[in-house]
Amino acid sequence: MTRDDRRSAPNIYKTRIFPKYKSYTLRNFRNISQIRANFSEAELFEMEVVGNVLPFKANNYVVDELIDWDKAAADPIFRLTFPQKNMLRPEHYDMMASTLKRTSSKSEIASVANIIREELNPNPAGQKDFNVPVFNGRPLSGVQHKYRQTVLFFPSQSQTCHAYCTFCFRWPQFTASQDLKFASKEIDTVIEYIKSDPSITDLLITGGDPMVMKPKLFEHYIDEILKANPPNLTNIRIGTKSLAYWPYKFTTDEDSGLLLRSFEKIINSGRHLSFMAHFNHYAELSTDVVRLAIKRIQQTGAEIRTQSPLFKFINDDPKVWSRMWNEQVRLGCIPYYMFIARHTGAQHYFKVDLERAWNIFRKAYQDCSGLARTVRGPVMSCNPGKVQVLGVTEINNEKVFALRFLQGRNEDWVHRPFFAGYDAGAAWINNLKPAFGADKFFYEDELSAIYKEKIAVLSNH
Ligand SMILES: *Cc1c(COP(=O)(O)O)cnc(C)c1O
Repeated sequence: MTRDDRRSAPNIYKTRIFPKYKSYTLRNFRNISQIRANFSEAELFEMEVVGNVLPFKANNYVVDELIDWDKAAADPIFRLTFPQKNMLRPEHYDMMASTLKRTSSKSEIASVANIIREELNPNPAGQKDFNVPVFNGRPLSGVQHKYRQTVLFFPSQSQTCHAYCTFCFRWPQFTASQDLKFASKEIDTVIEYIKSDPSITDLLITGGDPMVMKPKLFEHYIDEILKANPPNLTNIRIGTKSLAYWPYKFTTDEDSGLLLRSFEKIINSGRHLSFMAHFNHYAELSTDVVRLAIKRIQQTGAEIRTQSPLFKFINDDPKVWSRMWNEQVRLGCIPYYMFIARHTGAQHYFKVDLERAWNIFRKAYQDCSGLARTVRGPVMSCNPGKVQVLGVTEINNEKVFALRFLQGRNEDWVHRPFFAGYDAGAAWINNLKPAFGADKFFYEDELSAIYKEKIAVLSNH
């Protein structure tokens, strides 16, 4: 079917088989009929207040296919994509609400938004500075390299998503000024960097969402990489929410065939392609189109691995996770990580304490066969590394958290169990203190030394 055929096709073909992407933002969300039917003007204003600070973008697939509007405000996918009043602390909420009542000046609203955002810890886990490698005497923008084997590349064309998650920790990339953006047009530099370090095996293309970019552009990146053919680069990963937010990318969108052929090129070069799919809830696996998209991707030879953070109101229930993991396994996907909510943005709203996170994880894990137990969690992706909460236990009458690194800035830390004092309210590593009266965790001196060295290198540039 050509594009012109599509235009003259009956309506059902336009809306169901070749849906056209339509985004909903603050500018037009009041036009969504389901929104008008379910919310009062006061509630719409609340969404507007929060949406001026935190990222807000939904689309026609999310609104028409994923959200169960009978549940409206209580629906997990609604909470995942639409702003809610309590996502802002009262003082921040009032500050933006009074600004909106006072003025319609875009620049004034934006400057108030920026003041609030600055107070929301916009760059957690040292993303901004400590992960940027220095290469040939200059920091590589658009690249992060924290763990030896894996380099992250943020193409400048992937600094957005098909819809925004209300909990997103990468929100500075969507909203803030240039210096918070890790953007790069320079795939050549990335390739040179990969070639220069034989211990790099994985390139993780991420964003935002790299599956937002045009397939032709994605093909260009892949062609450049494959032409350079770095012998150490054996795995390419794509970090993306597109299967959940816009699966048509792999079925009926223009050039979806070209995109899938780019995946095949990676496989045919003798490399592994891992599609790191972000799914937060089994509802996102329930439509015919997402199942077809999964199949199409798998037919290229790629594997799909899945990951998600754990959030109150969205998926803080072991049944949601076991159903999601079991469904993923059935669809041939490999569960990979369960993350704990980072201390950024609306964390106060979404956070689940560490003990409860562990209980949710283990109950869900117990409810799956070994095929889903490839998943690791719950994990904090924090400054020193990826720290897994192994559980709460008692040693010498002291109640403690048992923890371990799954990834570390120093790889020697990985898989060394360590202990923190029990704290019922702790929701992130910075709430924890070492157990047994120790004054610091085993890695802290080495971590300070690593930072000192990074700061010295970066301050030379
Ligand atoms: C999570 C992460 C990776 C990938 O880690 P894997 O355990 O190999 O999946 C790479 N770089 C950074 C900065 C990360 O946070």
